[in-house]
Amino acid sequence: MNFQAPEGTKDITPEQVVLWNRLETAARETFARFGYEEVRTPIFEYTALFHKSSGETTDIVEKEMFTFGDPEDKKGTYSLRPELTPGTIRALIEGGLFAKKNFWKVWYLGPAFRKERPQKGRYRQFTQIGVEAAGSPDPLVDAETMVLFAEILKAVGVTAWELRVNSIGCKECRPVYREALKNHIRPLLPTLDENCNRRFERNVFRILDCKVDADKLKDAPKAIDHLCQACKDHMAVVEASLKACEVPYRIDSRIVRGLDYYTRTVYEFSSSALGSQNALAGGGRYDTLVGSMGGPDVGSVGFAAGVERILLAMGGEAVPPAPDFFAVAAGDVSRSDVFKIVVDLRRKGLSGDLDFEARSVKAQMRSANKTGARYALFIGPEEVQKGVIKLKDMKDGTEKAVFHEEAVNILRGGKK
Ligand SMILES: [Zn+2]
Ligand SMILES: [Zn+2]
Repeated sequence: MNFQAPEGTKDITPEQVVLWNRLETAARETFARFGYEEVRTPIFEYTALFHKSSGETTDIVEKEMFTFGDPEDKKGTYSLRPELTPGTIRALIEGGLFAKKNFWKVWYLGPAFRKERPQKGRYRQFTQIGVEAAGSPDPLVDAETMVLFAEILKAVGVTAWELRVNSIGCKECRPVYREALKNHIRPLLPTLDENCNRRFERNVFRILDCKVDADKLKDAPKAIDHLCQACKDHMAVVEASLKACEVPYRIDSRIVRGLDYYTRTVYEFSSSALGSQNALAGGGRYDTLVGSMGGPDVGSVGFAAGVERILLAMGGEAVPPAPDFFAVAAGDVSRSDVFKIVVDLRRKGLSGDLDFEARSVKAQMRSANKTGARYALFIGPEEVQKGVIKLKDMKDGTEKAVFHEEAVNILRGGKK
C-alpha cells in the first residue's frame, strides 16, 4: 500500500527547505528592521471568528473553510484558519495588548487552509506571511507595509513584480459609490454570469473582481472618483510616500480585495514570473475590523503574502550550506573514538558528519566529496593515540596532522 499526501497539499523536502529558509531569514530580518514583532496563533479558531471578521458574503467563508466539531456545542464549531488576520487581531485583543500600547506592528508566518478545488498554484494547505499594523489611521503606515513587502522581495531577489493600489473609500463615501456602481451594473445583470448576479445584492464590489465578465465592466464607475475629501487626502499621502521611497506602483480601480473588512487603501503585489495565479500579496487598510471584534476603535493596515508564490517567483538554485568537515574513520580505529571527536567539534560550533555505515575509506571519501565539506578529517588508531587529526583540504588536496585545538582553529578559519 502506497500512501499519498492529501490532494492540494505539498511536502517540503530537505532540498526545497533551503529556499524556504532563505525567504524566512530575509523576511525576519526585514520585519525586525521595520519594527514588526512576531505573533503565533492556533491554526484553528471558533468558526464564528471568521464569520465576524472575513465577512459572511465572501467566498472564503461561504464555501472554502474546513469546519469540524459539534454544531450543538455552545461555543460552536471550529474551522481551520483560511487566513491569519482574524486570529492575529483576536490575539491582540484577547491578550489585552492594546492596554499596554496603542499601536502594534506584528508579523506572522504559518499555514492556512482552504477547501477549494486544487489547481496549479493553489493549495488546500498553503503558507501565509504577513503583517498587521494595528492602532493607527496614519496613511504613512499604509505606505510602510507596501515598502516593507517590496524590501522582502528585494532581499530574496524577486525583481519582476508589480504593485497596484486603489482606494475603496470609507463608511462616508463608500455607500455613494456602491449606489453609483449598482446603477451602472443593474442593466448589465442579464449579461453577467451567475456569480456576479449573486454578488449584486450581497457584495457588489466583488463583481469588479470577476475575470469572466471583466470586459463588460470596463466602463464601471471607479471608487477612486467617488472618494470624500478625507479619503482623497489619505490617498494623496500614500501615493506621495510611495513615490518618495521610490516604490513603483500604479492605480488600478479593479482592486477591491475579496474580504469585507477593507476600507480606503487596498493593494496587490503580483509577479509576471508566475502564470495565471500571479498574486504575491494582497493587503490594505481595515479601520473597522479591530473595533468590530471587540477591540478599541483603531485603524489597521496589513498584508498577507503567499509563501509558495514568492518561492516560485524566486526560482534560483537551492544549494544547501556546505558543512565544515566530514570525518573519515581510517584503519581499524574505534568508530566510537571518531564519533566522540565529531561531537566535540560540533560542540565547538563546527558543522560536520561521519560515516554511519562502517564503509571503506574510499567510500567515506566519496561521502566527504558529496557533502561539499571544506575539510576531510582522517582519524586512524595512530591519530587517536597521538591526539591529532589529519586534515585534508578538499580544495587544494593538501594534508596535515594537527592537534585538536589547532584543528578547531583551522576549521573555523575555513568558515565563510
Ligand atoms: Zn471617504
Ligand atoms: Zn462575473
